[in-house]
Amino acid sequence: MGAVAARTAALHGARVLLVEKGATPTYPDRCTGIISPRCIEEAGLDGGVVLREIKGGIIHAPNGRTVRIEATDARAVVIDRRLLNLGLLEAAQEAGVEFAPDSRVVGLEDKTVIIERNGDTYRAQAKVVIGADGPRSHVAAWAKLPPPGQLLLGLQAMARYEPEKPDHIEIFVDQELAPGFFAWVVPAEEGIARIGLATYQVKGASAFLKRFLEQLKLKPLKINAGLIPIGPRAQTVADGVMVVGDAAAQTKPTSGGGLYTGIVAAKIAGEVAAEHSLSPRGNSNGLMPYENRWRERLDRELSLGMSLRRLFRNLNNREINFIFDVLDNKSLIDVVATYGDIDYPSLILKALLQHPKEWWRVFRGLGTKLSALELL
Ligand SMILES: Cc1cc2nc3c(=O)[nH]c(=O)nc-3n(C[C@H](O)[C@H](O)[C@H](O)COP(=O)(O)OP(=O)(O)OC[C@H]3O[C@@H](n4cnc5c(N)ncnc54)[C@H](O)[C@@H]3O)c2cc1C
Repeated sequence: MGAVAARTAALHGARVLLVEKGATPTYPDRCTGIISPRCIEEAGLDGGVVLREIKGGIIHAPNGRTVRIEATDARAVVIDRRLLNLGLLEAAQEAGVEFAPDSRVVGLEDKTVIIERNGDTYRAQAKVVIGADGPRSHVAAWAKLPPPGQLLLGLQAMARYEPEKPDHIEIFVDQELAPGFFAWVVPAEEGIARIGLATYQVKGASAFLKRFLEQLKLKPLKINAGLIPIGPRAQTVADGVMVVGDAAAQTKPTSGGGLYTGIVAAKIAGEVAAEHSLSPRGNSNGLMPYENRWRERLDRELSLGMSLRRLFRNLNNREINFIFDVLDNKSLIDVVATYGDIDYPSLILKALLQHPKEWWRVFRGLGTKLSALELL
């Protein structure tokens, strides 16, 4: 997200230094790379990063029942995350951003960023510092920002795999397989799938992935892990500092996807940084316009996502099987196929509420647990 914020700030006239501890932005292999076509547009890139289009999903219940969702158009794409990172970096440099690779930020003292490179220490003075340094953000800690809501652990393997449907992803919802979240199989490069899960149970989580791979009879070629922060920090702005993307925990709690929301917020951060640093006395509200504007765009969906995640976390496998019984109904599946949007889960929920009979069945079946959906 750093490259997106940097490019936007540069396009708005600011002088920008992008500091990265790796040779290029790191960790592409731990991301599944499922995004909406809208996310690519938002990133300002072309379809060159897309490996395949996704038109549907096969969702597995704990008892083995499956629900198939088939849309007529591409609802998501699987991307090459390495190419996305490089594309965003290239676009930032074209906009005039100065890139400092292999440079680790080790401190922040009153708008001075302390950088270590090849054993030497440098100090860079900035009117605005944007921390896009991932889920364990040091910038957020140095700026004394409140913590993210929750941290999940995501684990992902790459394996040789020939999917039954190359334009479908598979989701496994099972509290014993991936406690509190779900597991996935996503076809990526030809003959290769990304197989992963996320969970709240960080301790012993690798055993869950091992079991899942055994269940699918797959041998991993490579395994990666990463934190997924959900529930944005209560404050993402301090004096001269903003945090974006995973550093701000702007990830979608329903799916763990952070690219779309992070890019939206990073663009706003870049605009606000340029406005603030170019006006002679800075904005009278400091960097608060960033806090207000990203929350206006994203907060409603992220809050709803947190409610859905809380509800789901409290369900047991018997209750999940029951929801599948209700959902495995042609008219509801048609609603999901028509309104399904990975960036805006509220659309599908609103459409499902137009089916009061089924909703009433869920209400009677889950009773008080539905109180977690306070936003509805
Ligand atoms: C298993 C898994 C699967 C996922 N799948 C998806 C998906 O399918 N779709 C989706 O949208 N999202 C997905 N995500 C989430 C997505 O990967 C993140 O939301 C996204 O990478 C966040 O980008 P970011 O730039 O905020 O942080 P990061 O990608 O973590 O980047 C942080 C950058 O900061 C640099 N850095 C950190 N500290 C320093 C320092 N001190 N000095 C200099 N540089 C530093 C790092 O090298 C890195 O380049 C997944 C996450 C996981 C763990």
